[in-house]
Amino acid sequence: MSDEQQVATSVLVIGTGGSGLRAAIELAERGVDVLIVGKRPKTDAHTTLAAGGINAALATMDAEDSWQQHAADTLTESYLLADPATVQRVTEDAAESIRDLERWGMAFAREQDGRISQRFFGAHTFRRTAFAGDYTGLELQRTLIKRTAQLDIPILESVHITKLLVRDNVIFGAYGFNLQDGTRYKIHADAVILATGGHTRIWRRTSSRRDENTGDSFRLALEAGGRIRDPELVQFHPSGLIEPEDSAGTLVSEAARGEGGILRNDLGERFMKRYDPERMELSTRDRVALAAYTEIKEGRGTPRGGVWLDVSHLPRTQIMERLPRVYQTLMDLQLLDITTAPIEIAPTAHYSMGGVWVRPEDHSTDVEGLYAIGEASSGLHGANRLGGNSLIELLVYGKIVGHAAAAYSAQLTAQQRCRIAESAARDEIDQILSIDGPENVRFLQRALRNTMTEYAGVVRDEAGLLSGLSALAEIEERMTHLGVHPDIAGFYDLAHAFDLKASAIAARATLEAALERRETRGCHNRSDYPHLDEALKVNLVWSGPGRIERQAIPDIPADIAARMREVSSHGKLVE
Ligand SMILES: Cc1cc2nc3c(=O)[nH]c(=O)nc-3n(C[C@H](O)[C@H](O)[C@H](O)COP(=O)(O)OP(=O)(O)OC[C@H]3O[C@@H](n4cnc5c(N)ncnc54)[C@H](O)[C@@H]3O)c2cc1C
Repeated sequence: MSDEQQVATSVLVIGTGGSGLRAAIELAERGVDVLIVGKRPKTDAHTTLAAGGINAALATMDAEDSWQQHAADTLTESYLLADPATVQRVTEDAAESIRDLERWGMAFAREQDGRISQRFFGAHTFRRTAFAGDYTGLELQRTLIKRTAQLDIPILESVHITKLLVRDNVIFGAYGFNLQDGTRYKIHADAVILATGGHTRIWRRTSSRRDENTGDSFRLALEAGGRIRDPELVQFHPSGLIEPEDSAGTLVSEAARGEGGILRNDLGERFMKRYDPERMELSTRDRVALAAYTEIKEGRGTPRGGVWLDVSHLPRTQIMERLPRVYQTLMDLQLLDITTAPIEIAPTAHYSMGGVWVRPEDHSTDVEGLYAIGEASSGLHGANRLGGNSLIELLVYGKIVGHAAAAYSAQLTAQQRCRIAESAARDEIDQILSIDGPENVRFLQRALRNTMTEYAGVVRDEAGLLSGLSALAEIEERMTHLGVHPDIAGFYDLAHAFDLKASAIAARATLEAALERRETRGCHNRSDYPHLDEALKVNLVWSGPGRIERQAIPDIPADIAARMREVSSHGKLVE
């Protein structure tokens, strides 16, 4: 066995994205001992990819805006599956979270008189999305990292957490290993905050970082005794790159369509005429994704399974000024000059609306002392996420959870540990390393991602989901014969094996819940149940293979409900 280090802290935060950092800042500011652990460098967490902006009803551009209207827009866009109390917390506390960022030096875009600029995002009634160029996530991450450094918060990078340590449904820490040298870490803590992201990497094409969003939150929470809410609700973005393979799914910003980009199938037809003749390419994200998917599925796509997005008719200066990131991305990844040639795209898995089941008041889970936040958690977005709401959720609940975990730790009189749980975590790693079977982890990852893409993509049906479940069962069986070989370069193969275990659980949860949701609602399209079903205005809560319960959603307060109406997305960005 590799060396094992024992570490102790009051609160352990797993994940160095925006949500983990924000929670840790709250704890440190309250004088609580906190440690953050992440499996990749903190400067490169998934949060850095966020581009378009962050929402708060600051009313800097539209004086009539209010948190109540922000709440109403969020609930409308959720197709009534969002939890009203969660929505209220995020929208009401959003302005204060932006002020925290300002205090820590975040370089928001501003109007000439110094007000924070706010732009329109799709399905918002007013301009309420603050931004920092089209690098909002990067600037947010930098700001939070700077603050953690000022507060001297310790961060352990390149440590992959494989198990939460639990005794009698009470958390007491986590176990993991260092990706470079294999050193094991046994970390004792009073409380643990899971900030480990979503599960969009279980599809072949995803806008996520490589080796991120593999569903770790699902596995860690479930095996500790938690449950997963609405895993089937995943937002697909219409425009992901097809090539190169290792960057498949990388986003082409919706700004490309906003600036006048045209979508065509392989026959040269401007296919949006068939799906939304009025708004055409400026239609909503879910409709454009569904349209592109249908063209490809019905055989009018490119040989590689895509459609064309063309901006080459636009003036070159417009492209260079308004779409610099798109221009640069295509140059870097494909050596393609978008001022002269169209871009081949296909829908890409983009955001996990579902996640670990949490309580709205403090994001505590079913396990005492365990909290979940950010894309790992659930409750805010329902069946469709309002663009810009994810980043604000990280901040609002980061702060709330930091506060709650601090209070929980302070009232504990003793920490009960369990040798059996610690040995089980240690043995799990040893067991994977000892198999030396014929199966390659990368092949199985590919097989799983292909399965999800084929059977649980933009459009689903019963026959496909059942086929997906049997393909998954076969992959799970093959996973028992893995050959994992750490070498002098590091323990990455072992990390992939754990990623795969997590992805298999996330895939099963997704397939089973997608089968159970026999309706079409928001991002979830069932071709065999094409209508919304009132009886399914519930959350589906998954607690392991074959176990799904329906959970009622509390009523929306009358003053918020009165403000709810369909909002046009015309001419608005929707990232
Ligand atoms: C291209 C793109 C554009 C986007 N644009 C916007 C936007 O404009 N506005 C908006 O609001 N949202 C946007 N989003 C969504 C938003 O960026 C994410 O939802 C958000 O950043 C998630 O933050 P997080 O802290 O929850 O998780 P992440 O940033 O994903 O961080 C998770 C962390 O957990 C770590 N981790 C995971 N598993 C383990 C493990 N087993 N052990 C140790 N560490 C682990 C990871 O390494 C990572 O550091 C966008 C997303 C993408 C992909």
